[in-house]
Amino acid sequence: MDFVFHQRTEMNNSQTVELRKIWDNCLSHIRSSVTKQSFKTWFEPIVPLELANGELKIRVPSQFFYEWLEERYYPLITRTLADVLGHEVKISHSIFPDSEASTPTSPEAYPAEGLPNATAISNQVSQSHSTEPENVIYPPSARTRETASLLPSPTYGFTNSSSSSFNGFLHPRYTFENFIKGDSNQLARAAALAVANNPGGTSFNPLVIYGGVGLGKTHLIQAIGNHVLHQHKAKRAIYVSSEKFTVDFVDSIQRDTINDFSAFYRSMDVLIVDDIQFFAGKEKTQDSFFHIFNTLHQLGRQIVLSSDRPPKELKGLDERLISRFQWGLTADIQPPDLETRIAILRNKSEHENIEIPQDVIEFIAANVTSNIRELEGCLIGLLAKASLENREINLALAQEVLKSVVGSIKYHITIEGIQRSVCEFFDIPEDLIRAKTRKQEVVSARQIAMYLAKELTNSSLKTIGLHFGGRDHSTVIHSYQTVEDQMRSDGKFSETITQLRKKVELAGK
Ligand code: ADP
Ligand code: MG
Repeated sequence: MDFVFHQRTEMNNSQTVELRKIWDNCLSHIRSSVTKQSFKTWFEPIVPLELANGELKIRVPSQFFYEWLEERYYPLITRTLADVLGHEVKISHSIFPDSEASTPTSPEAYPAEGLPNATAISNQVSQSHSTEPENVIYPPSARTRETASLLPSPTYGFTNSSSSSFNGFLHPRYTFENFIKGDSNQLARAAALAVANNPGGTSFNPLVIYGGVGLGKTHLIQAIGNHVLHQHKAKRAIYVSSEKFTVDFVDSIQRDTINDFSAFYRSMDVLIVDDIQFFAGKEKTQDSFFHIFNTLHQLGRQIVLSSDRPPKELKGLDERLISRFQWGLTADIQPPDLETRIAILRNKSEHENIEIPQDVIEFIAANVTSNIRELEGCLIGLLAKASLENREINLALAQEVLKSVVGSIKYHITIEGIQRSVCEFFDIPEDLIRAKTRKQEVVSARQIAMYLAKELTNSSLKTIGLHFGGRDHSTVIHSYQTVEDQMRSDGKFSETITQLRKKVELAGK
């Protein structure tokens, strides 16, 4: 057994050496016909495996890599092989198996930014090549990691070895499942979902999502990409910020890889560009984007864009681009209402597997109103403080956190809170204030509570009435005026109300 095994290896090795020589010969021809960058990106990672029966089997890092090769370089490779071997050969391929180690799991791990520059990569590669014996076939993981950083150039890199794990620079956290639906994002979400289910097949092309900071634009447009990669395995979706697109564009001009750059984006089924307002004033980048946009649109590929304002209000952008942005659907995301904010916080805490009392959730939701990122920041701050200081998650802790995050807190005053404080103050049972009783002391307490509810909450007269045993809004107005009149005529009464007001505010703090 041992002997046979040994013999076989010997044979394989000598064949491999021979094959490597042939391949190196081919490479030296190819090197002179493509750019340095293309050579490093598309040819160095190829590993020749076997040459038999007029067929060369090669190993490539991913399906996409192979398709790219086939589309752009197949004739070059077959022609060169025919020259070197003196006869024609077909090419077949296999792909490196998945490597967990090179699958990024956090945005920080994505090579989108902070990639080592090309020189660093090429040094690294040539070093590792020079120390390896010529005929070594790289172990999948090591080779994958190395090519991952090369692929398909620092600027438009892939991170993994097979098409199924091509992540398109999408963060897996951004999905439709954890994007909370609300009035504020209804249209945008519905359109995004339609596009994700049928990329390029709806009239929403391009789909432009616009809205203020931290309202979920990036989340939603990435959810489209994740959905596409998940549902339509053969499709390629890529996410890029307009800043990164710009930097890569400039970079590709300097490196003379502009053709690869454009071809890369043109090969996508779904192109997602975030924050297009940053294209403002960058004419050459806009021009390049314009052509990519046109090609993709003509091919029926999906384009998804986000912006901080509606396309027609974008300044410093070419008119022809703006008009194209309006070809499809433009949908806005508004700041979330209270219910949506509560739902987002609840969803998030469930996701973190941490139980947060309802009053704490409501308190944060009531105070952080403009921005979902800030909302999440508060929740994270709260969880961090609770765990670091080993404290219970309650309203007091939430108040401390909010003060440092939001700066100042509005009081969290509810109608129930007011009723409680007022009843305590006058020493009457709480249910009486909502009951039908007309006992003078109860009537008076009820009127004061209604007055404070009108003064200290944003509730409508109707809502206030409902909280007081279903009384109608005219009763609330009457109570309010009665209390106001008495405050004006009775200094002591006015003082009592001021005192009560403080008590309510303190309780709601
Ligand atoms: P933008 O790109 O508009 O500035 P982001 O997409 O970065 O905003 O959103 C900020 C944060 O809020 C992200 O962590 C995102 O997951 C979260 N977020 C935004 N909208 C929602 C939503 N509807 N449901 C759940 N989380 C959301
Ligand atoms: Mg964003």
